[in-house]
Amino acid sequence: MSQNVTVVDHPLVQHKLTLMRARDTSTAVFRQLLKEISQLLAYEVTRDLSLAPTRIETPLMAMDAPRLAGRKLALVSILRAGNGMLDGMLELIPSARVGFVGLYRDEATLKPVQYYFKVPARLSERAVIAVDPMLATGNSSIAALKLLKEAGATDLRFLCLLAAPEGIENMARAHPDVRIVTAAIDERLNEKGYIVPGLGDAGDRMFGTK
Ligand code: URA
Repeated sequence: MSQNVTVVDHPLVQHKLTLMRARDTSTAVFRQLLKEISQLLAYEVTRDLSLAPTRIETPLMAMDAPRLAGRKLALVSILRAGNGMLDGMLELIPSARVGFVGLYRDEATLKPVQYYFKVPARLSERAVIAVDPMLATGNSSIAALKLLKEAGATDLRFLCLLAAPEGIENMARAHPDVRIVTAAIDERLNEKGYIVPGLGDAGDRMFGTK
């Protein structure tokens, strides 16, 4: 496995992921679990943010306490499934700016087609976390990260829920500088480009479409 990949094996993450995989988990529960798991994954993807001491007064005495001091954050949702991860992350990091990249997967070619791109200004000054629950072939994510780099992003991370080995390999080849954080790496992609065992179509499951 690429050294740029972190699998979050925390028991709470693994338990919630199992519930999400189960086919009879309802849309409402799936969405709630995705929100909760996104917060837990957000801890890991932000682990290396820099801190600097700041002078404060507790009720008892003065102290130098750590405070976030590095680049400000931008969260970028890869539409539409990425939106399911945003809510939870924004509760944890309410001051983060938010961008959206719209790419859909052409089911015949499995290649990404862009239809929307709106990101915060001065992306080069921010730590950018791109989110998409499923890293399957990696085609959409690779294209999205390329667009973000063209918009100035230099400090980029990629957060997903489930990854296929093929997607990880493709991402590592296209963007070796981007750290990937995921809850699990599954067996493989099937002939339709779905991750197996997987959890099905993440967008359909969180929005109740089909
Ligand atoms: N996108 C999904 O939603 N699920 C997969 O298994 C692969 C891509």
